[in-house]
Amino acid sequence: MNKEDVYGPELDYIECEGCGWDIGLCVCGEKTKIYSLYKNGIHLHDFTSIKKCAEWLENLIGGSLYQGLCGLRNGWKPKEHSQLYGYEIKTTYSKD
Ligand SMILES: [Zn+2]
Repeated sequence: MNKEDVYGPELDYIECEGCGWDIGLCVCGEKTKIYSLYKNGIHLHDFTSIKKCAEWLENLIGGSLYQGLCGLRNGWKPKEHSQLYGYEIKTTYSKD
């Protein structure tokens, strides 16, 4: 069965890079890098790539955000006029 049949796009599906299952159902124990998006210290959503994060946030606030989000990941602090002001990206792993 195709994974898309199991998980609708509206569900919070994060694919393990090792086994391809949702990280909650991971069978391989592979560490998966997770990019957690925050705004003003509030956790919004988790992503497995900056690209997916950009797509999600662009749907929400518009614009072209990929470069900015890469900057956030690298510690850039947006100024008040920036569309990404108040946003933060923290990198974690699904397993320690
Ligand atoms: Zn896995």
